[in-house]
Amino acid sequence: MMKQIAYGYWWNCASCGTENAYGLTADEAEEYIRDWEEDNADSVAEGETGEGACDWWYNVTAEENDAHIEDGEKCCKCGAVATKETRTDKARWFDSIVDNLEKST
Ligand SMILES: [Zn+2]
Repeated sequence: MMKQIAYGYWWNCASCGTENAYGLTADEAEEYIRDWEEDNADSVAEGETGEGACDWWYNVTAEENDAHIEDGEKCCKCGAVATKETRTDKARWFDSIVDNLEKST
């Protein structure tokens, strides 16, 4: 069954087309946020929150970097490992922006 994520994104398996979730469930996110705030007391003192960090990583950075491919995530249905074919639209879009920036400099 597909993971019920509170933070993260979805990617489609290249073998069977099943939608897979990459990220954290509400319970996992709570733990992540607590750990992050413990480890980053300095940032918290400056007004940052674990929730912000969690959101930034799982909803923005992870997707732009195709973290599910980096991590070798497996399809929840057929077990196929995520390949370059499973890049998200957002990651492709982000790459095309970077390409354009490089070309224009
Ligand atoms: Zn699959």
